[in-house]
Formats: sequence, structure tokens, C-alpha cells
Amino acid sequence: MLNIALFGPPGAGKGTQSEFLIRKYKLYYISTGDILRKEIDQKTDLGLQAKNIIEAGGLAPDEIIVQLLEKTIKENPDAKGFLFDGFPRTYIQAYILEGLMIKLNTSLNCLISLDVNKEESVKRLLIRGETSGRKDDNESVIRKRLTEYDNKTRPVLQFYKDRGIYIPVNGQQSIEKVSRDIDSIVQKELSKRLFNIVLFGYPGSGRGSQGKALAKKYGLEFVATGPMLDREIKNKTALGNQIKELYESGQLVSDHLVVQLIEKKLEQSKGIKGFIFKGFPRTLVQSYILDGLLKKLGSSISMVIDIEVPTLELISRLDARSKTDACMPYDMSTAKIVKRLHEHETKTIPVITKYNQLHGVTKIDGMGSFDEVFERISQEVENGMKHMR
Ligand code: AMP
Repeated sequence: MLNIALFGPPGAGKGTQSEFLIRKYKLYYISTGDILRKEIDQKTDLGLQAKNIIEAGGLAPDEIIVQLLEKTIKENPDAKGFLFDGFPRTYIQAYILEGLMIKLNTSLNCLISLDVNKEESVKRLLIRGETSGRKDDNESVIRKRLTEYDNKTRPVLQFYKDRGIYIPVNGQQSIEKVSRDIDSIVQKELSKRLFNIVLFGYPGSGRGSQGKALAKKYGLEFVATGPMLDREIKNKTALGNQIKELYESGQLVSDHLVVQLIEKKLEQSKGIKGFIFKGFPRTLVQSYILDGLLKKLGSSISMVIDIEVPTLELISRLDARSKTDACMPYDMSTAKIVKRLHEHETKTIPVITKYNQLHGVTKIDGMGSFDEVFERISQEVENGMKHMR
């Protein structure tokens, strides 16, 4: 999701600039002013409660704004992102926006502030008042609205400065120039966003080879915890020595060590378009860890893929692999193969179930040649990437 708030005093050009953003980025537009005016026209309870305040140039109560926003967001569950105009307008509303974003499992990407001085605002609103038919576009109410802006709305900027997502734009330039400035900010935001895939499948489903090939094709970083652990041991790093000791004493590698390894990998990966996780998360605990790790990067899971292969085919593939050079230590006996399948069944299937409820899981038929399966997954990934915009 791409979520943007357009900020600025009345008359800054938020409505005008919204038009091109909606067209270009297909965002769902939420103008609290427009929603309120509609409520007033329809003489709803909320509209009647807010009418006098609005017409006098004051701000509608936060309680009303929350109710209207909740309703609007609930009515648009398929929105690919939101463009907020005229919200948040108070410090409290900044927190309300945080809460709404958390509820949607997303966050605000940036707050773009259109800077326009007071006299320019008054001039523009008086011109607009000649044709807008808005009762609040007359000089005395305009001055009251600007005072409300200075007292209640401007302090909101500090909230976003502290969060590092406040971006100012000179709103006194031509409409086209302001649009170009905003567009380049949005483009930068889009390029910052990571496309993160979690790839599931039973051992033998081909997730390792498919994951590696997908990473190469789409410029993603392949994060496979098994090989990462092996590499640490081979390179005799401090972490590797600890892992080796655990392996040798037959103990499981703790989440604590795995997290350190993934953290290091995520931090070192610069300039990539996203990650493909394979072999992690393996348990519900690890699924929470992954949420936390991605959140730290200001990111989240974009897509979950599960490669499906019938059990008998899995066993025959793993058995065949055990007779080749590609044999893994854990492919060596039927007992070990069955144990891995069982681990997946009991620990990892609950993670897939959880993801299915949260994000939806894309099921891929894993039967057929490598290329056939790769083509199927690639198509889904490309759809997912398009959907992200
Ligand atoms: P606008 O169309 O954004 O200029 O808003 C017109 C009027 O609607 C404002 O002057 C306020 O009275 C009211 N309003 C719009 N958005 C909000 C909000 N987020 N909080 C409180 N009042 C609002």
C-alpha cells in the first residue's frame, strides 16, 4: 500500500494536487472536508452536528472525524492505498491516523506539506469563493480557518518531522511545477518500498531452486536460513562456532542466533528491491520475529507463496536426491526425510494458515518441470508487484 497525506493551510492546493495523484497512482481519495460537506447535504446526524462549526470556520470534533473515516475505510477494503486531504488536522488526529493504519496493517509513507503564505491562501480562497458555493469561502471565515490552522493544525507537522516522514514542497509555484515536485517525492517513496516474498513448500517441493531463480530474475535478495547457517560454520565466524557446537551436541539452533543472522543479512542488503525468505519463518514464533525484522526496515510481507506437491512425489524426489551429489545430510535416510516432512506439517503449516488469514497465500502447483513451475510463480509475482503500486 502507498499512503500519503497532503498537508497545508486552506487554499494551499491540496484538492487540485490530489486530482493528479489519484489519477496516476490509483489511490483512494479521502478528503474529510468533502465527506463532511456530503454529510451536511444529506442532513445526517453527524452532518448536522458539524454544520455550524464548519460554517463558522472551526474544526469538526475529532469524534466525528473518526466515525466518518472508519466508515469510509471499511467501505473500501480493496483500496491500494489512501490519499488523505485535510486530515490529520489536529495532533490527536495524527494519533488517530496511526491507529487506522495499524488496523489496516500498513503505515503512512509520507506527509507532503504544501507551503503557502497567509496572504496567498486568502487570495486563492476568495477567488475560489466566487464559484465554489462554499459558505466558508468568505473573508471573515477564511481568516478564522487560517487561525485554526495556525493554532491546531500546524503543530501536527512536528509529529511527522519527528517520525522523519515530513516532506515540504513550495506550494506557491505553478500548479504543474508543484505536481512535478510531488510526483518525484512519490516516485522516491515507491522505489524505497521493498517487495518481500515468503516462500513455502514441503522439503522436496523445489522452493530452494525456485527461490534462488526468482531472486535473480526480480533483483530480490534470497534469504535462506539453512545455507546461511552452513556458511557461518564454514567461515568459522563467532556465530558459526556457536552454531557448530549446537549442531555437534544435537541441539536445535535457537531463534536468538537465527535472528542475529537474518538481521545482519537484512542490514547488509543495500539497493535491493526486496527479499525472498525460504526456510524462515518455520514456526509461529518466527513469524512474529519476521514481522518485527521487516517493521524495523519500515517494510512488511508483500506476498506469501506455497508450492504444492503431493506427498508421494515429495518422498520420491527426496529419495532420488539422496542418491545424487546434491544429497543433503538430512536426506540420507527415510527416517530423516519423514522427520522433516513431519516438522513441516506440525510447525510450519500453522504459519501458512496464519498467513492465509492475514495476507492470503498464493498456491502454486509444483508438479511439472522446473521451467513450468518457475513460469507459474513468475506470473504470480509479477501480478503481485503490479498490485503493490
Ligand atoms: P476543507 O475542505 O479540507 O477545507 O475542510 C472544510 C472544513 O471542514 C474545515 O474548515 C473544517 O471545519 C472541516 N474539516 C475538514 N477536515 C477536518 C478534520 N480532519 N478535522 C476537523 N475538521 C475538519
